[in-house]
Formats: sequence, structure tokens, C-alpha cells
Amino acid sequence: MKKPNEEIKALILKFALLNAVQHEGKARESSVMGRILAEKPQLKAEIKRGAATVKEVVAYVNRLSLSEQQKTIEEKWPELLAAKKAEERVKGLPPLPNAEKYERIVTRFSPNPDCVLHLGSARAIVLCYEYAKMYKGKFILRFEDTDPKLKRPVPEFYDKIREDLDWLGCKPDKEYIQSDRIPIYYEHAEKLLKNAKAYVCTCTPQDFRQKILAKKPCPCRELPPETQLERWEKMLNGEYAEGEAVVRVKTDITHPNPAIRDWPALRIIDTEKYPHPRVGGKYRVWPLYNFACGIDDHLMGVTHIIRGKEHLTNQHRQEYLYAHFGWEYPEAIHYGRLKITGAFLSKSKIVQGIRDGTFKSWDDPRLATFLALKRRGITPEAIRQLIIDVGPKTADVTLSWENLYAYNRKILDPKANRYFFVSDPVQLTVQSLPKAFHAKLNLHPDYPERGFRKYRVEPKGEAREAQFWISREDFEKFEVNRVVRLMELFNITVRKVRSYEVEADYHSETYQEARTLKAPLIHWIPINEGMPCQVVMPDATVKEGVAEKLCKKLKPDTAIQFERFGFVRIDAVNKKLVAYYAHK
Ligand SMILES: [Zn+2]
Repeated sequence: MKKPNEEIKALILKFALLNAVQHEGKARESSVMGRILAEKPQLKAEIKRGAATVKEVVAYVNRLSLSEQQKTIEEKWPELLAAKKAEERVKGLPPLPNAEKYERIVTRFSPNPDCVLHLGSARAIVLCYEYAKMYKGKFILRFEDTDPKLKRPVPEFYDKIREDLDWLGCKPDKEYIQSDRIPIYYEHAEKLLKNAKAYVCTCTPQDFRQKILAKKPCPCRELPPETQLERWEKMLNGEYAEGEAVVRVKTDITHPNPAIRDWPALRIIDTEKYPHPRVGGKYRVWPLYNFACGIDDHLMGVTHIIRGKEHLTNQHRQEYLYAHFGWEYPEAIHYGRLKITGAFLSKSKIVQGIRDGTFKSWDDPRLATFLALKRRGITPEAIRQLIIDVGPKTADVTLSWENLYAYNRKILDPKANRYFFVSDPVQLTVQSLPKAFHAKLNLHPDYPERGFRKYRVEPKGEAREAQFWISREDFEKFEVNRVVRLMELFNITVRKVRSYEVEADYHSETYQEARTLKAPLIHWIPINEGMPCQVVMPDATVKEGVAEKLCKKLKPDTAIQFERFGFVRIDAVNKKLVAYYAHK
């Protein structure tokens, strides 16, 4: 008899030690054996021969004290402990259940490429990514594109989704596309049919429904495997038309939930009529969600499925599949719904709105797509931090835009330099200036080292006057004889208010005086120091106005704060400055 080789011996020792430290110093042969088979199914034959070795090693390990066991792990496999320490370090997320059972944590995010991603997906992505990172594991992106008819994938979205994940800072370690894997699903379907764990049902949907609701098998269920395989062949070669045959996975036909009873696994789609955008008419039998997803999670070594609790029924369905194949179902975490009041999160409505022209593009500011958030200057860090703080709890959570803005403000505030933007500008003429004034405005109040915007305001002509742009909104508050302060410049007395301009007299210079008089503070731009600027608001309306000419030097994609107006992201800098509004 061949003895197990050194590598396997080392593996046995490693798992025996791990198992021991997890169970107060006592390892169990069956657990160690099971663990090795789960990790290295290809070693099945050799391990069986090595059962005696497992017994020996476990006995040896169990003679050691707990601290000796821990020390041995530390010496030989420090990475096992390092992973544990990293887990303790990451704050915010609770540990994953049974993480220690697995050598490497694997999570996956599996979108259908039929739309760009939006805030509704953020929870799945961020949690899967962060957990994989926390345990130095693997984060998989899997495109679930096996419905060329009703959830038709669109070529451009594969790339757009990859870009969305990059932007969010959640780059996958590995990518799969289900439409590349059809032969794998066929192979597994055949295995089930051969083993009488599935059947090809040719009943009409109504007939099947009637039977299954009565907890009765349909006639197809009892046919022998040979007949099933013949029918399967007919599905593949086109003898059945769309809707005429479907592969069903056998479950408990008396299961309390009728939706779980003998669920459909593969069906026919007329790909001449509905060609798949990637593989065209190559396949006419397509796996349904639970079948493809269930098989992939196992084959891709997913250890933790993290998804919304609306998927709980899917887990119950897939557990039958796993039992048929003798696989162990991964750990599953089902988090509650995350609602964001006022956010537009329906994929079908987004797609519809783009089609009918309601939304101009995927980054239309009214949408909660990542593209739109990016354009508005909402940072990926804010989204990630918000999601981490919400965590994977099962209770439903309702957030508002304000919650997200609060996270974003914290990130933008120290970065964003300050400028003036006068929306809907009105001309202000101030007369009787006693002298020339210098205004020195901080680019950032907390970081004077970043520099200033400097303006020299000089009295002109006999009237000793100077002219400014101020916003209509401010101007509408003006009453005759009111004292108003131009920020960091001087105070004025309003003399005359017309529909397009304001005349005022110089009043005094200090802020102190303005305070005593309770003068409102307004922002301003000297009339020759402005450049045209438009700000696109979250409701897609546009505010036209004037920004400081200095803004011409800003680079697109910079976040700044227009004082008394809000945070914006510079979108384009030409003759006109274009900015997108983020929030107050
Ligand atoms: Zn049937």
C-alpha cells in the first residue's frame, strides 16, 4: 500500500492543529478528514489510503497542550494567524461566520450586465469586497448573463460595470462570465438527469402548476434516466421549441413553499429570435438563475455569499442542488433592504427613462447610478464608509441622501478650496469709496498655506464708485437703507433697488461694525473678475451665473466649494465653467 506523501502529511497536520485550537485543544479525525476533502477533492483517493495517518497525526496533536498547538501553527503557518489578526484590526464590520473553517475567504458580486450599477448595488459590492480584503481573501466579479430574452445583457455594460467597480475602489481579483460557461452547466445537468436527481418536464406550465400545487409529481418526474437523457438531447438539438421542455431539479414536492418544489433549472430560448450579445445563437438551452448561480458558487470556491434577504428562498432552492451533488452549501449572510429616500433605484425605470429620453445619459444627475454620483462629486470613499457603517445587519435600513452627503462633506470639506459663484447675477454699484481696498480671501479657511484670492477695489470717476456681481437671491432681500457686508471687503448702505441693479453707498470697513448692525454677509465678484459659469443641479436644472475668473485654472474633476452655495465638481473648463452640484 502506498503511503501518503509529505505534502499530504503536512496538510493533515495543519488541519489537525487548526481543528484542535478551535476546539479547546482536541482535534477530531472526521473533521480533519472532511476538511481535507473539502479543500483538496482531487486528493480523495490518496487520503482514503492515508486514513491511518490521519488517526496518527490527530492523536499526536491531541497530546500537545493548547499553547504548544498554537505555537506550532505560529511557526509553520503564520499566515493563518495573521489573517485572524487582520480581522481584528478592521473596525466597523463584524467578523464573518465560520471564517476559520476556510483556508481562503472567497466572496462574489454577480450583476446582470443589463444596466449600469447604482447605489442599490453598493451594499453587495462593498461588503463582499471589504470582507475579502479583511481576510486577505478573493473577491470575484461574475457576470450573470444567461437570459438573452427577458434580462437581455448589453455589450457596453460589461465594461461599464468593470469601470464602476474600479471607481468604487472595489477591483475584483477574478472575473467570470456565465455565458462562457454554458458547457459546464450542461455537464452538471446531465449528471443530475443520469442520477435521477432532475428531469425534463414537457408538461404545459398550467398542467405542471396544477400537479405541484396539489403536491403531486407530474408524469415526467417518474420517467427513467434513459428517457430523461433522450429528452435532454432533444432540448439541445432543437426538437423541442421554446417553452416545450424544461429541466427541473427534484426537491421535496410537499415543501411548504410551492415555489421551491421542483424548480426549473434550464430552459429553451429561441436564440435565432433572441441572439445572445456575446455568443449569438450558439446555445439554445440556457440555465436559470438558481442553477447557474448555485453551481458557480461551488465551483468558484465561494465561501461566503453576502446578499439581500430577498434571496433566502433561492438558498432553499439551491440547497437541494447541493445535496444532489454532495456539496456543502457556503455560509450565507442575508442583509436587510437598504432604502434611500428619494433615490431612483429601479433598474427598469432607469433603462426606460434613458430609452424614452427622460434622462439624457447614464450620468444624468437625477439618477443614483455610480456614474451620476461620480459626476456630481460624490466620492467613492463616502459610499464605502456609509455602507461599512450600516454593515450586514438583517434589519431594513432607510437612509436619506442627507446621510450620504454628510459622509461626503466630511471628505470634501478639507480638500475643497473656496470660490465665489454668483448665481443669476445682478449688478451692484457702490459709490463714495474713501480709498482703494484690498480683499484677501482664503482659498481654505483651515489651510491658509494654500493661498488666497486677492482683489484690489479702486474708486473710479467722480462718484468714486466700484461695480460688482451679486446674486439675485441676495439682492431680493435688500431694502433701502439696509446695511449689508460684502464678505472680507466692506459694508454698504443700500440706496436704490431696481429690477436689474442695486445702487449703494460705502458705509464702513470693519466686520465688527457689520456685526453690530446685524448686517447680512453676501459674496460678490468684481465686475471685471468674473467668468460665465453654469452649475447643473441634482434635479437637472441649470443655474447660470458668474464665477471668479481664477476658476479658469481649475482642472476638470476638482471638487471645490462655492461659498454660501455648496460643494460642486468641476466638469469642464472652457470659456464657460461647467460644474455639477454635489450638496450644501
Ligand atoms: Zn412534467
